[in-house]
Amino acid sequence: MKPKNVFFILVLLVVSSCSPETIINPVETDETSTLFEGLTVVDTTLAIIPQPKTLIAYKGSCDLTSIRNIDIQNESLRPASVYVRTILSEISQQELSTSTGNIKNKQTINLLLEPLSNNTEHYKLEIAPDNISVTGTTPQAVICGLNTLRQIISINGITNSAPSVLPCVALNDQPAFSWRAFMLDVARHFFTKDEICNIIDMMAQLKLNKLHLHLTDDQGWRIPINQYPELIETGWKRLPNDHDKDCINLAKSFPDYQFPSDRWDGTYYFGKYSKSDIQELVAYAAERGIDIIPEIDIPGHSSVAIEAHPEFSCVNGTGWGEEFSYPLCLGNDNVLTYYKNIFDELMILFPSKYIHVGADEADPTNWKSCPKCQARIKNNNLGSVTGLQKWFLSQIEQQIRSKGRKMVVWDDALVSVGSTATVMWWRDWIGINNAVGGAVRQGSEAVITNWDVMYFSGKETDNSLAEIYNLRLYPTNGITEGQKSLVVGIQGSVFTEVTPNISRLNYMIYPRMFALSEKSWYADNTNTEMWTSFKTRLNPWLLYLKSKNIRYRTPNLN
Ligand SMILES: [Zn+2]
Repeated sequence: MKPKNVFFILVLLVVSSCSPETIINPVETDETSTLFEGLTVVDTTLAIIPQPKTLIAYKGSCDLTSIRNIDIQNESLRPASVYVRTILSEISQQELSTSTGNIKNKQTINLLLEPLSNNTEHYKLEIAPDNISVTGTTPQAVICGLNTLRQIISINGITNSAPSVLPCVALNDQPAFSWRAFMLDVARHFFTKDEICNIIDMMAQLKLNKLHLHLTDDQGWRIPINQYPELIETGWKRLPNDHDKDCINLAKSFPDYQFPSDRWDGTYYFGKYSKSDIQELVAYAAERGIDIIPEIDIPGHSSVAIEAHPEFSCVNGTGWGEEFSYPLCLGNDNVLTYYKNIFDELMILFPSKYIHVGADEADPTNWKSCPKCQARIKNNNLGSVTGLQKWFLSQIEQQIRSKGRKMVVWDDALVSVGSTATVMWWRDWIGINNAVGGAVRQGSEAVITNWDVMYFSGKETDNSLAEIYNLRLYPTNGITEGQKSLVVGIQGSVFTEVTPNISRLNYMIYPRMFALSEKSWYADNTNTEMWTSFKTRLNPWLLYLKSKNIRYRTPNLN
Protein backbone atom coordinates (compact mmCIF):
# COMPACT_ATOMS: atom_id res chain seq x y z
CA MET A 1 0.00 0.00 0.00
CA LYS A 2 1.14 3.50 -0.76
CA PRO A 3 -0.60 5.92 1.61
CA LYS A 4 0.93 8.98 -0.03
CA ASN A 5 -1.05 8.20 -3.16
CA VAL A 6 -4.34 7.83 -1.36
CA PHE A 7 -5.96 11.08 -2.31
CA PHE A 8 -5.54 11.20 -6.01
CA ILE A 9 -9.20 10.70 -6.66
CA LEU A 10 -10.26 13.99 -5.14
CA VAL A 11 -7.00 15.84 -5.23
CA LEU A 12 -5.77 15.43 -8.75
CA LEU A 13 -2.98 17.92 -8.40
CA VAL A 14 -2.81 18.74 -12.05
CA VAL A 15 -4.27 21.42 -14.21
CA SER A 16 -6.42 20.42 -17.09
CA SER A 17 -4.14 21.94 -19.72
CA CYS A 18 -1.05 19.85 -19.11
CA SER A 19 -0.36 16.64 -20.91
CA PRO A 20 0.39 13.41 -19.02
CA GLU A 21 4.06 13.64 -19.91
CA THR A 22 4.49 16.92 -18.03
CA ILE A 23 2.91 15.78 -14.78
CA ILE A 24 5.24 15.24 -11.88
CA ASN A 25 4.75 11.71 -10.63
CA PRO A 26 1.08 11.20 -11.51
CA VAL A 27 1.51 7.56 -10.60
CA GLU A 28 4.97 6.98 -9.28
CA THR A 29 5.41 3.37 -10.23
CA ASP A 30 3.68 3.41 -13.60
CA GLU A 31 4.84 4.19 -17.03
CA THR A 32 2.30 6.31 -18.85
CA SER A 33 0.22 4.03 -21.00
CA THR A 34 0.31 4.66 -24.72
CA LEU A 35 -3.45 4.17 -24.64
CA PHE A 36 -3.82 7.74 -23.41
CA GLU A 37 -1.36 9.39 -25.78
CA GLY A 38 -2.43 12.90 -26.72
CA LEU A 39 -5.10 13.16 -24.02
CA THR A 40 -4.96 15.86 -21.37
CA VAL A 41 -5.36 15.03 -17.71
CA VAL A 42 -8.39 16.49 -16.00
CA ASP A 43 -9.33 17.17 -12.42
CA THR A 44 -12.36 15.07 -11.68
CA THR A 45 -14.14 13.16 -8.97
CA LEU A 46 -15.35 9.63 -9.39
CA ALA A 47 -17.50 8.10 -6.69
CA ILE A 48 -15.58 4.84 -6.48
CA ILE A 49 -15.78 2.85 -3.22
CA PRO A 50 -13.31 1.68 -2.07
CA GLN A 51 -11.33 4.66 -3.27
CA PRO A 52 -8.63 3.47 -5.68
CA LYS A 53 -5.08 3.90 -4.44
CA THR A 54 -4.25 6.00 -7.52
CA LEU A 55 -6.45 7.37 -10.26
CA ILE A 56 -5.71 9.65 -13.21
CA ALA A 57 -8.60 10.98 -15.25
CA TYR A 58 -8.15 12.06 -18.87
CA LYS A 59 -10.18 14.31 -21.08
CA GLY A 60 -11.82 11.77 -23.31
CA SER A 61 -14.39 9.03 -23.22
CA CYS A 62 -14.92 5.40 -24.10
CA ASP A 63 -18.23 4.31 -25.57
CA LEU A 64 -18.92 0.78 -24.38
CA THR A 65 -21.17 0.11 -27.35
CA SER A 66 -18.06 0.31 -29.56
CA ILE A 67 -16.46 -2.72 -27.84
CA ARG A 68 -16.50 -5.75 -30.13
CA ASN A 69 -13.94 -8.15 -28.71
CA ILE A 70 -12.59 -9.55 -25.44
CA ASP A 71 -8.94 -10.52 -25.65
CA ILE A 72 -7.54 -12.80 -22.95
CA GLN A 73 -3.84 -13.30 -22.47
CA ASN A 74 -4.31 -16.97 -21.65
CA GLU A 75 -6.94 -19.55 -20.72
CA SER A 76 -6.76 -18.78 -16.99
CA LEU A 77 -8.62 -15.56 -17.83
CA ARG A 78 -11.49 -17.30 -19.66
CA PRO A 79 -13.79 -17.10 -16.55
CA ALA A 80 -13.03 -13.37 -16.29
CA SER A 81 -14.08 -12.97 -19.95
CA VAL A 82 -17.42 -14.54 -19.06
CA TYR A 83 -17.82 -11.90 -16.35
CA VAL A 84 -17.01 -9.15 -18.89
CA ARG A 85 -19.98 -10.36 -20.95
CA THR A 86 -22.20 -10.30 -17.86
CA ILE A 87 -21.13 -6.75 -17.05
CA LEU A 88 -21.53 -5.42 -20.58
CA SER A 89 -24.87 -7.17 -21.10
CA GLU A 90 -26.32 -4.77 -18.52
CA ILE A 91 -25.58 -1.82 -20.78
CA SER A 92 -25.47 -2.94 -24.40
CA GLN A 93 -26.44 -5.98 -26.38
CA GLN A 94 -23.69 -6.11 -29.03
CA GLU A 95 -22.10 -9.39 -30.11
CA LEU A 96 -18.68 -9.89 -28.54
CA SER A 97 -16.00 -12.18 -29.89
CA THR A 98 -13.21 -13.62 -27.74
CA SER A 99 -9.59 -13.87 -28.83
CA THR A 100 -6.38 -14.96 -27.15
CA GLY A 101 -3.29 -12.75 -27.20
CA ASN A 102 -1.96 -9.65 -25.53
CA ILE A 103 -2.06 -6.87 -28.10
CA LYS A 104 -4.15 -3.86 -27.16
CA ASN A 105 -6.37 -3.43 -30.20
CA LYS A 106 -9.15 -0.93 -30.75
CA GLN A 107 -12.72 -1.84 -29.77
CA THR A 108 -11.30 -4.45 -27.42
CA ILE A 109 -11.29 -5.24 -23.72
CA ASN A 110 -7.90 -6.74 -22.90
CA LEU A 111 -7.49 -9.00 -19.88
CA LEU A 112 -3.83 -9.36 -18.95
CA LEU A 113 -1.62 -10.89 -16.28
CA GLU A 114 1.47 -9.12 -15.02
CA PRO A 115 3.39 -9.42 -11.73
CA LEU A 116 2.60 -5.90 -10.52
CA SER A 117 3.51 -6.73 -6.90
CA ASN A 118 3.25 -9.64 -4.48
CA ASN A 119 -0.36 -8.68 -3.71
CA THR A 120 -2.55 -11.30 -5.40
CA GLU A 121 -5.34 -8.77 -5.96
CA HIS A 122 -3.21 -5.92 -7.35
CA TYR A 123 -4.71 -4.65 -10.61
CA LYS A 124 -4.54 -1.82 -13.11
CA LEU A 125 -7.59 -0.61 -15.02
CA GLU A 126 -7.25 1.63 -18.06
CA ILE A 127 -10.32 2.99 -19.80
CA ALA A 128 -9.07 4.62 -23.02
CA PRO A 129 -11.04 6.00 -26.01
CA ASP A 130 -10.96 2.73 -27.98
CA ASN A 131 -9.76 0.17 -25.51
CA ILE A 132 -10.25 -1.04 -21.97
CA SER A 133 -7.38 -2.95 -20.38
CA VAL A 134 -7.45 -4.78 -17.08
CA THR A 135 -4.10 -6.07 -15.87
CA GLY A 136 -3.73 -8.10 -12.70
CA THR A 137 -1.21 -10.12 -10.78
CA THR A 138 -3.66 -13.06 -10.86
CA PRO A 139 -7.02 -13.85 -12.51
CA GLN A 140 -8.62 -12.84 -9.19
CA ALA A 141 -6.90 -9.44 -9.45
CA VAL A 142 -8.29 -9.05 -12.98
CA ILE A 143 -11.77 -9.70 -11.58
CA CYS A 144 -11.11 -6.99 -8.96
CA GLY A 145 -10.37 -4.63 -11.85
CA LEU A 146 -13.55 -5.71 -13.63
CA ASN A 147 -15.52 -5.02 -10.47
CA THR A 148 -14.14 -1.49 -10.48
CA LEU A 149 -15.12 -1.16 -14.15
CA ARG A 150 -18.58 -2.37 -13.17
CA GLN A 151 -18.74 0.30 -10.44
CA ILE A 152 -17.77 3.00 -12.90
CA ILE A 153 -20.52 1.79 -15.25
CA SER A 154 -23.06 1.73 -12.39
CA ILE A 155 -22.26 5.19 -11.14
CA ASN A 156 -22.05 6.56 -14.67
CA GLY A 157 -25.58 5.26 -15.17
CA ILE A 158 -26.70 7.47 -12.29
CA THR A 159 -24.77 10.62 -13.13
CA ASN A 160 -24.47 10.61 -16.93
CA SER A 161 -27.28 10.95 -19.45
CA ALA A 162 -25.32 8.65 -21.80
CA PRO A 163 -24.72 5.63 -19.55
CA SER A 164 -22.59 3.74 -22.07
CA VAL A 165 -20.06 6.58 -22.38
CA LEU A 166 -17.40 6.22 -19.69
CA PRO A 167 -14.75 8.75 -18.69
CA CYS A 168 -11.16 7.86 -19.58
CA VAL A 169 -9.23 6.87 -16.47
CA ALA A 170 -6.16 4.94 -15.39
CA LEU A 171 -6.23 3.25 -11.99
CA ASN A 172 -3.63 1.34 -10.04
CA ASP A 173 -5.07 -0.36 -7.00
CA GLN A 174 -4.63 -3.08 -4.42
CA PRO A 175 -6.29 -4.08 -1.13
CA ALA A 176 -4.76 -4.12 2.33
CA PHE A 177 -6.73 -7.14 3.49
CA SER A 178 -7.26 -10.49 1.78
CA TRP A 179 -10.39 -11.18 3.90
CA ARG A 180 -13.12 -8.68 2.98
CA ALA A 181 -16.29 -10.40 3.97
CA PHE A 182 -19.95 -10.44 4.75
CA MET A 183 -21.73 -13.12 6.77
CA LEU A 184 -25.38 -14.03 6.51
CA ASP A 185 -27.25 -16.33 8.89
CA VAL A 186 -29.76 -18.25 6.75
CA ALA A 187 -30.58 -20.72 9.54
CA ARG A 188 -32.67 -18.50 11.82
CA HIS A 189 -34.45 -16.90 8.88
CA PHE A 190 -34.05 -18.09 5.35
CA PHE A 191 -32.96 -16.08 2.31
CA THR A 192 -33.46 -17.40 -1.20
CA LYS A 193 -30.83 -18.02 -3.84
CA ASP A 194 -32.01 -15.01 -5.85
CA GLU A 195 -31.91 -12.72 -2.82
CA ILE A 196 -28.37 -13.83 -2.04
CA CYS A 197 -27.33 -13.33 -5.69
CA ASN A 198 -28.44 -9.71 -5.43
CA ILE A 199 -26.29 -9.26 -2.32
CA ILE A 200 -23.38 -10.94 -4.14
CA ASP A 201 -23.72 -8.43 -6.97
CA MET A 202 -23.41 -5.51 -4.58
CA MET A 203 -20.56 -7.18 -2.67
CA ALA A 204 -18.71 -7.75 -5.94
CA GLN A 205 -18.96 -4.12 -6.94
CA LEU A 206 -17.54 -3.21 -3.53
CA LYS A 207 -14.75 -5.75 -4.06
CA LEU A 208 -15.74 -7.75 -0.98
CA ASN A 209 -14.38 -11.22 -1.68
CA LYS A 210 -15.89 -13.63 0.85
CA LEU A 211 -19.47 -14.53 1.65
CA HIS A 212 -19.77 -16.58 4.83
CA LEU A 213 -23.06 -18.50 5.02
CA HIS A 214 -24.19 -19.67 8.45
CA LEU A 215 -26.15 -22.68 7.19
CA THR A 216 -27.16 -24.49 10.36
CA ASP A 217 -28.16 -23.60 13.89
CA ASP A 218 -30.57 -24.64 16.63
CA GLN A 219 -33.38 -23.05 14.61
CA GLY A 220 -32.77 -24.51 11.16
CA TRP A 221 -30.76 -26.69 8.78
CA ARG A 222 -30.85 -25.38 5.22
CA ILE A 223 -28.46 -27.56 3.25
CA PRO A 224 -29.02 -31.12 1.96
CA ILE A 225 -26.53 -33.81 2.95
CA ASN A 226 -27.05 -36.86 0.73
CA GLN A 227 -25.89 -39.36 3.32
CA TYR A 228 -28.14 -37.92 6.00
CA PRO A 229 -31.37 -36.58 4.44
CA GLU A 230 -32.94 -36.56 7.91
CA LEU A 231 -31.03 -33.35 8.71
CA ILE A 232 -32.76 -31.12 6.19
CA GLU A 233 -36.04 -32.98 6.65
CA THR A 234 -35.89 -32.07 10.35
CA GLY A 235 -34.44 -28.60 9.97
CA TRP A 236 -36.02 -26.96 6.94
CA LYS A 237 -39.37 -26.30 8.60
CA ARG A 238 -40.54 -25.37 12.08
CA LEU A 239 -43.46 -24.19 14.16
CA PRO A 240 -42.88 -20.55 15.17
CA ASN A 241 -40.18 -20.18 17.83
CA ASP A 242 -39.93 -17.21 20.20
CA HIS A 243 -38.19 -14.99 17.64
CA ASP A 244 -40.77 -15.93 15.01
CA LYS A 245 -43.53 -14.98 17.45
CA ASP A 246 -41.79 -11.63 18.04
CA CYS A 247 -41.70 -11.09 14.28
CA ILE A 248 -45.37 -12.04 13.91
CA ASN A 249 -46.34 -9.57 16.63
CA LEU A 250 -44.15 -6.78 15.30
CA ALA A 251 -45.41 -7.38 11.76
CA LYS A 252 -48.89 -6.29 12.89
CA SER A 253 -47.51 -2.73 13.03
CA PHE A 254 -44.33 -2.87 10.92
CA PRO A 255 -44.02 -4.58 7.51
CA ASP A 256 -40.28 -4.94 8.22
CA TYR A 257 -41.05 -8.03 10.27
CA GLN A 258 -43.39 -9.83 7.87
CA PHE A 259 -42.48 -13.30 6.69
CA PRO A 260 -42.38 -13.65 2.91
CA SER A 261 -45.27 -15.81 1.71
CA ASP A 262 -42.88 -18.38 0.22
CA ARG A 263 -41.47 -19.01 3.71
CA TRP A 264 -44.59 -18.97 5.90
CA ASP A 265 -47.92 -20.71 5.45
CA GLY A 266 -49.62 -19.42 8.59
CA THR A 267 -48.59 -22.50 10.58
CA TYR A 268 -45.00 -23.35 9.62
CA TYR A 269 -41.92 -21.27 8.84
CA PHE A 270 -39.72 -22.98 6.22
CA GLY A 271 -36.91 -22.67 3.66
CA LYS A 272 -34.13 -24.80 2.17
CA TYR A 273 -31.59 -24.95 -0.64
CA SER A 274 -31.20 -27.78 -3.11
CA LYS A 275 -27.73 -28.93 -4.09
CA SER A 276 -28.18 -27.25 -7.46
CA ASP A 277 -29.14 -23.98 -5.69
CA ILE A 278 -25.83 -24.16 -3.82
CA GLN A 279 -23.88 -24.97 -6.97
CA GLU A 280 -25.47 -22.02 -8.76
CA LEU A 281 -24.70 -19.71 -5.82
CA VAL A 282 -21.08 -20.85 -5.66
CA ALA A 283 -20.64 -20.36 -9.42
CA TYR A 284 -22.40 -16.97 -9.40
CA ALA A 285 -20.15 -15.77 -6.59
CA ALA A 286 -16.99 -17.22 -8.16
CA GLU A 287 -17.62 -15.43 -11.46
CA ARG A 288 -17.66 -12.18 -9.46
CA GLY A 289 -14.51 -12.97 -7.45
CA ILE A 290 -16.23 -14.12 -4.27
CA ASP A 291 -15.65 -17.34 -2.32
CA ILE A 292 -18.57 -18.72 -0.35
CA ILE A 293 -17.41 -19.99 3.04
CA PRO A 294 -19.91 -22.50 4.45
CA GLU A 295 -20.47 -22.85 8.18
CA ILE A 296 -21.93 -25.86 9.94
CA ASP A 297 -21.94 -24.98 13.61
CA ILE A 298 -20.65 -27.66 16.03
CA PRO A 299 -20.59 -28.89 18.79
CA GLY A 300 -23.09 -26.34 20.15
CA HIS A 301 -25.96 -24.84 18.15
CA SER A 302 -26.73 -28.40 17.00
CA SER A 303 -30.33 -28.90 18.11
CA VAL A 304 -31.52 -29.89 14.61
CA ALA A 305 -29.06 -32.78 14.39
CA ILE A 306 -29.94 -33.82 17.94
CA GLU A 307 -33.64 -33.69 17.13
CA ALA A 308 -32.97 -36.02 14.19
CA HIS A 309 -30.68 -38.21 16.35
CA PRO A 310 -31.54 -37.82 20.05
CA GLU A 311 -28.63 -40.12 20.96
CA PHE A 312 -26.25 -37.44 19.64
CA SER A 313 -26.68 -35.44 22.84
CA CYS A 314 -25.40 -36.57 26.22
CA VAL A 315 -28.95 -36.73 27.59
CA ASN A 316 -30.75 -38.36 24.67
CA GLY A 317 -32.56 -35.29 23.38
CA THR A 318 -32.52 -31.55 22.79
CA GLY A 319 -32.74 -28.98 25.53
CA TRP A 320 -31.28 -25.79 26.92
CA GLY A 321 -28.74 -25.17 29.62
CA GLU A 322 -28.36 -21.86 31.38
CA GLU A 323 -27.63 -19.90 28.20
CA PHE A 324 -27.07 -22.25 25.29
CA SER A 325 -28.57 -25.37 23.77
CA TYR A 326 -27.35 -28.86 24.69
CA PRO A 327 -24.23 -29.67 22.66
CA LEU A 328 -23.33 -32.82 20.78
CA CYS A 329 -22.05 -35.72 22.88
CA LEU A 330 -18.34 -35.80 22.14
CA GLY A 331 -17.93 -39.21 23.74
CA ASN A 332 -20.17 -40.80 21.10
CA ASP A 333 -18.07 -42.28 18.26
CA ASN A 334 -21.00 -42.03 15.83
CA VAL A 335 -21.10 -38.25 16.26
CA LEU A 336 -17.54 -37.92 15.02
CA THR A 337 -18.04 -40.24 12.04
CA TYR A 338 -21.27 -38.51 11.13
CA TYR A 339 -19.75 -35.02 11.12
CA LYS A 340 -16.64 -36.10 9.25
CA ASN A 341 -18.97 -37.35 6.51
CA ILE A 342 -21.02 -34.14 6.61
CA PHE A 343 -17.92 -31.96 6.22
CA ASP A 344 -16.71 -34.20 3.39
CA GLU A 345 -19.93 -33.56 1.48
CA LEU A 346 -19.80 -29.87 2.33
CA MET A 347 -16.29 -29.59 0.88
CA ILE A 348 -17.45 -31.17 -2.37
CA LEU A 349 -20.17 -28.54 -2.68
CA PHE A 350 -18.04 -25.57 -1.61
CA PRO A 351 -14.54 -25.22 -3.16
CA SER A 352 -13.60 -22.50 -0.63
CA LYS A 353 -10.23 -22.82 1.06
CA TYR A 354 -11.92 -21.94 4.37
CA ILE A 355 -14.50 -24.14 6.09
CA HIS A 356 -16.21 -22.73 9.19
CA VAL A 357 -17.13 -25.11 12.01
CA GLY A 358 -18.60 -22.55 14.42
CA ALA A 359 -17.45 -23.86 17.80
CA ASP A 360 -19.11 -20.99 19.63
CA GLU A 361 -21.31 -21.09 22.71
CA ALA A 362 -21.00 -24.80 23.45
CA ASP A 363 -22.32 -25.39 26.99
CA PRO A 364 -19.98 -27.98 28.60
CA THR A 365 -22.30 -28.84 31.51
CA ASN A 366 -23.60 -32.10 30.01
CA TRP A 367 -20.08 -33.24 29.12
CA LYS A 368 -19.15 -33.05 32.82
CA SER A 369 -21.73 -35.62 33.85
CA CYS A 370 -21.92 -37.80 30.70
CA PRO A 371 -20.30 -41.24 31.14
CA LYS A 372 -19.32 -41.39 27.45
CA CYS A 373 -17.72 -37.95 27.47
CA GLN A 374 -15.95 -38.69 30.75
CA ALA A 375 -14.70 -42.01 29.36
CA ARG A 376 -13.30 -40.19 26.32
CA ILE A 377 -11.53 -37.67 28.54
CA LYS A 378 -10.03 -40.49 30.62
CA ASN A 379 -9.09 -42.83 27.77
CA ASN A 380 -7.54 -40.11 25.62
CA ASN A 381 -5.95 -38.37 28.58
CA LEU A 382 -7.68 -35.06 27.72
CA GLY A 383 -7.76 -33.70 31.26
CA SER A 384 -11.00 -31.72 31.14
CA VAL A 385 -14.04 -30.79 29.04
CA THR A 386 -11.86 -28.09 27.42
CA GLY A 387 -9.48 -30.86 26.37
CA LEU A 388 -12.48 -32.85 25.14
CA GLN A 389 -13.67 -30.03 22.84
CA LYS A 390 -10.10 -29.48 21.70
CA TRP A 391 -9.80 -33.18 20.81
CA PHE A 392 -13.10 -33.14 18.88
CA LEU A 393 -12.18 -30.01 16.91
CA SER A 394 -8.74 -31.43 16.10
CA GLN A 395 -10.41 -34.55 14.67
CA ILE A 396 -12.69 -32.42 12.48
CA GLU A 397 -9.80 -30.15 11.53
CA GLN A 398 -7.78 -33.18 10.44
CA GLN A 399 -10.60 -34.13 8.09
CA ILE A 400 -10.76 -30.58 6.70
CA ARG A 401 -7.00 -30.35 6.27
CA SER A 402 -6.88 -33.76 4.57
CA LYS A 403 -8.82 -32.09 1.73
CA GLY A 404 -6.39 -29.18 1.62
CA ARG A 405 -8.73 -26.77 3.37
CA LYS A 406 -8.45 -24.58 6.46
CA MET A 407 -10.73 -24.60 9.51
CA VAL A 408 -12.32 -21.40 10.83
CA VAL A 409 -13.78 -21.06 14.34
CA TRP A 410 -15.40 -18.29 16.38
CA ASP A 411 -13.16 -16.86 19.12
CA ASP A 412 -14.95 -18.91 21.81
CA ALA A 413 -12.79 -21.81 20.62
CA LEU A 414 -9.48 -19.94 20.73
CA VAL A 415 -8.27 -22.14 23.60
CA SER A 416 -9.38 -25.27 21.73
CA VAL A 417 -7.50 -24.83 18.46
CA GLY A 418 -3.90 -24.57 17.28
CA SER A 419 -2.13 -22.22 14.91
CA THR A 420 -3.54 -23.89 11.78
CA ALA A 421 -7.09 -22.68 12.54
CA THR A 422 -8.35 -19.21 11.61
CA VAL A 423 -10.07 -17.43 14.50
CA MET A 424 -12.96 -15.02 14.07
CA TRP A 425 -13.28 -12.41 16.83
CA TRP A 426 -16.89 -11.54 17.58
CA ARG A 427 -17.20 -11.18 21.38
CA ASP A 428 -16.35 -7.50 21.83
CA TRP A 429 -16.50 -7.92 25.61
CA ILE A 430 -13.54 -10.31 25.51
CA GLY A 431 -11.48 -7.51 23.99
CA ILE A 432 -9.28 -7.31 20.91
CA ASN A 433 -6.09 -7.82 22.93
CA ASN A 434 -7.32 -11.12 24.33
CA ALA A 435 -9.13 -12.49 21.28
CA VAL A 436 -7.17 -11.18 18.28
CA GLY A 437 -3.97 -10.82 20.32
CA GLY A 438 -4.36 -14.38 21.61
CA ALA A 439 -4.98 -15.73 18.13
CA VAL A 440 -2.05 -14.08 16.37
CA ARG A 441 0.29 -14.81 19.26
CA GLN A 442 -0.34 -18.51 18.85
CA GLY A 443 0.20 -18.12 15.09
CA SER A 444 -3.45 -18.25 13.99
CA GLU A 445 -4.93 -15.97 11.36
CA ALA A 446 -7.54 -13.62 12.84
CA VAL A 447 -10.61 -12.03 11.31
CA ILE A 448 -12.41 -9.13 12.98
CA THR A 449 -16.18 -9.09 13.22
CA ASN A 450 -16.72 -7.67 16.68
CA TRP A 451 -20.33 -7.65 17.81
CA ASP A 452 -20.51 -3.99 18.82
CA VAL A 453 -19.42 -2.57 15.45
CA MET A 454 -19.34 -5.27 12.78
CA TYR A 455 -22.61 -7.05 13.54
CA PHE A 456 -24.93 -5.41 11.04
CA SER A 457 -27.78 -7.21 12.77
CA GLY A 458 -27.28 -4.59 15.49
CA LYS A 459 -29.21 -1.37 15.20
CA GLU A 460 -27.63 1.14 12.86
CA THR A 461 -27.13 4.66 14.17
CA ASP A 462 -25.73 7.84 12.68
CA ASN A 463 -22.36 6.78 14.10
CA SER A 464 -22.31 3.29 12.56
CA LEU A 465 -20.42 4.21 9.40
CA ALA A 466 -17.80 6.22 11.28
CA GLU A 467 -17.37 3.39 13.78
CA ILE A 468 -16.62 0.95 10.97
CA TYR A 469 -14.35 3.48 9.32
CA ASN A 470 -12.42 4.02 12.55
CA LEU A 471 -12.46 0.39 13.65
CA ARG A 472 -9.48 -0.66 15.73
CA LEU A 473 -7.79 -3.50 13.87
CA TYR A 474 -4.73 -4.45 15.85
CA PRO A 475 -4.07 -5.47 19.46
CA THR A 476 -2.07 -2.93 21.43
CA ASN A 477 -0.30 -5.28 23.80
CA GLY A 478 2.97 -5.66 21.97
CA ILE A 479 2.47 -7.89 18.97
CA THR A 480 5.20 -8.22 16.36
CA GLU A 481 4.90 -7.13 12.70
CA GLY A 482 4.69 -10.79 11.74
CA GLN A 483 1.83 -11.33 14.17
CA LYS A 484 0.15 -8.17 12.88
CA SER A 485 0.15 -9.60 9.38
CA LEU A 486 -1.93 -12.53 10.69
CA VAL A 487 -4.88 -10.14 11.06
CA VAL A 488 -6.15 -11.01 7.60
CA GLY A 489 -9.31 -8.94 7.44
CA ILE A 490 -12.71 -7.81 8.58
CA GLN A 491 -16.26 -8.98 8.14
CA GLY A 492 -19.75 -7.54 8.54
CA SER A 493 -22.10 -10.15 10.00
CA VAL A 494 -25.87 -10.49 10.24
CA PHE A 495 -27.61 -12.96 12.50
CA THR A 496 -31.23 -13.02 11.50
CA GLU A 497 -33.28 -13.66 14.66
CA VAL A 498 -35.45 -10.62 13.88
CA THR A 499 -34.49 -10.07 10.24
CA PRO A 500 -37.13 -12.11 8.40
CA ASN A 501 -37.18 -10.55 4.92
CA ILE A 502 -34.89 -9.04 2.30
CA SER A 503 -36.22 -5.51 2.67
CA ARG A 504 -35.29 -5.50 6.36
CA LEU A 505 -31.96 -7.15 5.64
CA ASN A 506 -31.06 -4.57 3.01
CA TYR A 507 -32.01 -1.79 5.41
CA MET A 508 -29.61 -3.27 7.98
CA ILE A 509 -26.64 -3.79 5.63
CA TYR A 510 -26.74 -0.71 3.40
CA PRO A 511 -24.89 1.58 3.51
CA ARG A 512 -22.76 -0.15 6.18
CA MET A 513 -21.47 -2.48 3.46
CA PHE A 514 -19.83 0.55 1.77
CA ALA A 515 -17.88 1.52 4.89
CA LEU A 516 -16.90 -2.14 5.31
CA SER A 517 -15.61 -2.14 1.75
CA GLU A 518 -13.38 0.90 2.13
CA LYS A 519 -12.10 -0.14 5.57
CA SER A 520 -11.21 -3.61 4.32
CA TRP A 521 -9.38 -2.10 1.35
CA TYR A 522 -7.33 0.34 3.43
CA ALA A 523 -7.09 -1.26 6.91
CA ASP A 524 -5.47 1.38 9.16
CA ASN A 525 -4.57 3.73 6.32
CA THR A 526 -7.78 5.74 6.48
CA ASN A 527 -7.91 9.26 7.89
CA THR A 528 -10.15 12.26 8.32
CA GLU A 529 -9.75 13.56 4.77
CA MET A 530 -10.62 10.18 3.36
CA TRP A 531 -13.65 9.93 5.62
CA THR A 532 -14.87 13.29 4.33
CA SER A 533 -14.35 12.09 0.78
CA PHE A 534 -16.11 8.80 1.56
CA LYS A 535 -19.24 10.64 2.65
CA THR A 536 -19.26 12.56 -0.64
CA ARG A 537 -18.67 9.43 -2.70
CA LEU A 538 -21.46 7.61 -0.87
CA ASN A 539 -24.21 9.96 -2.06
CA PRO A 540 -24.50 8.74 -5.67
CA TRP A 541 -24.48 5.16 -4.37
CA LEU A 542 -27.57 5.87 -2.32
CA LEU A 543 -29.20 7.03 -5.57
CA TYR A 544 -27.95 3.84 -7.23
CA LEU A 545 -29.49 1.66 -4.50
CA LYS A 546 -32.74 3.58 -4.91
CA SER A 547 -32.68 3.04 -8.67
CA LYS A 548 -32.32 -0.70 -8.08
CA ASN A 549 -35.11 -0.77 -5.47
CA ILE A 550 -32.58 -1.82 -2.84
CA ARG A 551 -33.65 -0.45 0.50
CA TYR A 552 -31.13 1.32 2.73
CA ARG A 553 -30.97 3.41 5.85
CA THR A 554 -30.43 7.07 5.03
CA PRO A 555 -27.40 8.09 7.06
CA ASN A 556 -27.09 11.49 8.66
CA LEU A 557 -23.50 12.28 7.82
CA ASN A 558 -23.23 15.90 8.90
ZN1 LIG B 1 -21.58 -37.00 26.18
